[in-house]
Amino acid sequence: MKSIMRFVNWSLGLASSTVEFYAACVECGEASPVVHSAGERQVSEVWALQHAGANPSHRSFRAYQVSAWSATPDDTVGDPPTS
Ligand SMILES: [Zn+2]
Repeated sequence: MKSIMRFVNWSLGLASSTVEFYAACVECGEASPVVHSAGERQVSEVWALQHAGANPSHRSFRAYQVSAWSATPDDTVGDPPTS
């Protein structure tokens, strides 16, 4: 069996326009509710402050902004790698 191989260019783009915003406590991993617009981002900020108030030793948080990406081959043939 023979196969034909070629070098294909790929592009990366958003798979969905939906973005998730949330925060998580570094100490215990508990996470804020997920919101889907930058305007609602303060929901996770308020959650972090309330979480710190309820758990005084939990003072570090990570803020996440998550989007889905998709890799798609286009129909152009690229140059083969040189190395
Ligand atoms: Zn915590």
